[in-house]
Amino acid sequence: MPRAILYLSQQLKDNISAFFLIAVIMFACALAGIIGRPLTFLAIFWPANAVLLGLFLRFPTLKNIGGWLGAFIGFMIADLITGNTFLVTLFLTLANLSHALVTLLLIHFFKLDYKQYNKGLTFLYLFGISAFGGCLAAASFACLTVPHLPNTFMSMDRIWIDFGMWWTGEILNVIAFLPIVLAIPNQNTIQNYFQEYKQQPLQTEILLPFLGVVLSVILTHFFIGPGAIMFPIAALIWAALSYNLFFVSIINCGVCMLLYNALTSYYITQSPDAYLETTLSVRIGLFMLALGPLTLTIISRNRQKLYHQILYLANHDGLTTTLNRRYFYEESERTIAKNTEKTAHSVTILLIDLDHFKKINDQYGHVIGDYVLQEFSRQVKAQIRSHDLFGRLGGEEFAILLKDLTLEQSIAIAQRICNTVFNTPIHLDDQRSFNISVSIGLSYQTLPYCVPFQQLIKRADDALYLAKEKGRNQLCLESEIQQNYNLFAQ
Ligand code: GH3
Ligand code: MG
Ligand code: MG
Repeated sequence: MPRAILYLSQQLKDNISAFFLIAVIMFACALAGIIGRPLTFLAIFWPANAVLLGLFLRFPTLKNIGGWLGAFIGFMIADLITGNTFLVTLFLTLANLSHALVTLLLIHFFKLDYKQYNKGLTFLYLFGISAFGGCLAAASFACLTVPHLPNTFMSMDRIWIDFGMWWTGEILNVIAFLPIVLAIPNQNTIQNYFQEYKQQPLQTEILLPFLGVVLSVILTHFFIGPGAIMFPIAALIWAALSYNLFFVSIINCGVCMLLYNALTSYYITQSPDAYLETTLSVRIGLFMLALGPLTLTIISRNRQKLYHQILYLANHDGLTTTLNRRYFYEESERTIAKNTEKTAHSVTILLIDLDHFKKINDQYGHVIGDYVLQEFSRQVKAQIRSHDLFGRLGGEEFAILLKDLTLEQSIAIAQRICNTVFNTPIHLDDQRSFNISVSIGLSYQTLPYCVPFQQLIKRADDALYLAKEKGRNQLCLESEIQQNYNLFAQ
């Protein structure tokens, strides 16, 4: 099939799947909003517009003609089957769609890289653009058109009320629902969660920030008043520093909805005349309240990621990604320190030096020399367990610390490394290949450790020296073990 036809048929498929997916989701979201809508008022809970914007941002493949058409149909059907006239439904739908459309245009205009929505302050800008762009556009469009049509919930004589209510309703919905959609974890992240969970099941302490939020919201029920809007702030900050963005977004959404109900019903019973001011004030207040933890979560997560990257760079060798000398020594010292979590019952030190490495550099060049070091490290990593330590002490000299093995097991591993390295040729791009070899010195110690780590290294180093002397490409044991072996053999 010609390429152009293949491309067109793929486009058609993408559009059709976007159409159905978005239509179903929008229909469900709009229906949820309509069901919760008081007869004479606009809906308070209206997740549809924020969800549509979130889907287009989070899954850009849905942002095509099929997706837009699906949203249009989803909105229309939901409103029509719940009794609105065709014209009112049409203009309400266009107002709803204008939210996502205007926000996306502004994101494009300001060149906001929304794919990096979770980087630093981009989230803050995104909500600014949405609140003062898309939300305002939707409210303006609705107020300029719908009151001219026969309907029960918007009229010209209270146009400013409707405008204020629509606009603030939109921004509250944006802060409550957009982050959830944007933070939907991808498949990899979900798999990572499960893997982490398998390695380390959840501890009850992790629930504490969440319980803090629940308690602070319950507190608003007993001490309702001007301060209540701030009750959850401390617990929300705690949650923001403890959980990922997806979970914080869900908590934030719950807090916004519950506080909205508690605060508006309290203030309106206090002074029913101030209905508009109260509602607007509470909504804007909640928008600001929710923005804090969301931004904090993102910044804290980014810093954590950065910290782990820097820590990795500080502790690993850039060429071979093995532990660097300092970190290998530190971790080894911890392993033989008494009565700590990491203390091993026995440790084996293998000191490994590549044979005649200078010749490899001279013959093939430094770049190939570097490649040999990388290949060698890969081969060794495949032979040891993840909790053994493998570090580059310098140049072409490496060390391994094996934990909790018998002497015989340690010798078998060392011998296997020696054989594997010798029997695995290094292949170069130009079809050339050559073999390398290593010499290994082994020292072994069981609990209780009464020698310093340096001493263990020294013993392995002496054995390595012996291996070089005896002709290289072999394993030598430290002298005391070798003597015992000899005695045993006699
Ligand atoms: P022996 O069998 O006695 O160990 O001989 P050798 O040639 O391996 O030992 P020698 O200490 O004489 O030489 C080590 C060489 O390793 C010298 C140095 O240029 C090279 N080397 C050290 N670090 C690196 C590196 O990071 N990359 C490359 N390509 N070469 C390195
Ligand atoms: Mg060498
Ligand atoms: Mg050397």
